[in-house]
Amino acid sequence: ILIPSLGLVLAFWFYSARDTFKPEMLRGKRVIVTGASTGIGEQMAYHLARMGSHLLLTARTEAKLQNVVRRCLELGAASARFVSGTMEDMAFAQHVVREAQTTLGGLDMLILNHVGASYFGFFDGDVEHVRKLLEINFLSYVAMTTSALPMLKESEGSIVVVSSMAGKVGFPFTVPYSATKFALDGFFSSLRQEFTIQSINVSITLCILGFIDTERAVRAAAEVLAERPAPRDECALEILKGAALRRRELYYRYSSTRLPLLLRDCAAELLDYLGPRPSPFLAAVAA
Ligand code: NDP
Repeated sequence: ILIPSLGLVLAFWFYSARDTFKPEMLRGKRVIVTGASTGIGEQMAYHLARMGSHLLLTARTEAKLQNVVRRCLELGAASARFVSGTMEDMAFAQHVVREAQTTLGGLDMLILNHVGASYFGFFDGDVEHVRKLLEINFLSYVAMTTSALPMLKESEGSIVVVSSMAGKVGFPFTVPYSATKFALDGFFSSLRQEFTIQSINVSITLCILGFIDTERAVRAAAEVLAERPAPRDECALEILKGAALRRRELYYRYSSTRLPLLLRDCAAELLDYLGPRPSPFLAAVAA
């Protein structure tokens, strides 16, 4: 009895040790963070800077990126620079990846986090908006991944895809956004399987986030969502831990994201019934 028990304890210890995040895991790593001028992306940049990574940041607003880069250097980034531009333009998405090749000499982690502006309310029938949002939130992720793959294969690196509960469960008021996030799941979950079949050692971490306290999200959803938003700096750190440990999926916060998923699979009608309902404000907007 003693020997098998000892074996179990040792196996458990080995498994836990293997699974422990250490900031050194990201020291010296060459990382692209998209959507890094505000919100969760900005916080990821600061955490990575404290861990001593090389950073290439991108978003549209140059003035904000300049400040984020300055702060990253103060916090201890091995290096930090930015490229500004819009992810509506696939040529720009590919250009950012080429910048990593030129300035960092390769890439260890591609963090796809940016999100285009959308509305929070009933679907308004604007097909052009859906197309544009798909380009920003989905196609540019595909374009960057495709361009970065040779470098990531060489470094046996990681792709981090920031998604949402709205990319796993259909909620009201975010129809175009939700469509783009479901598309990410389809693309990257299939690609992960192909990597396994082809023995490509590039991890893909799909991050399923609940309500986070970024300005954009609070402004859009605080009216409708009853739950308190989770802190963006903690969320950013959890994403990086999941990425460093090469997790396939990450749920933040676990408690608020897993229950709806469980219901989706075993009691979808109940989930529909419990979903968010319009506030008087939204009802007025829709009227
Ligand atoms: P923010 O709105 O705070 O940040 C979005 C970032 O994307 C900004 O840096 C913005 O910079 C950039 N961006 C917007 N449009 C474009 C564009 N056309 N081209 C290039 N960059 C662009 O978002 P969050 O931090 O809240 O969200 C980050 C990620 O987390 C997103 O993928 C989002 O879907 C996901 N998420 C967030 C949740 C939340 O509650 N906050 C919940 C679930 C998922 P700029 O304007 O300078 O271009």
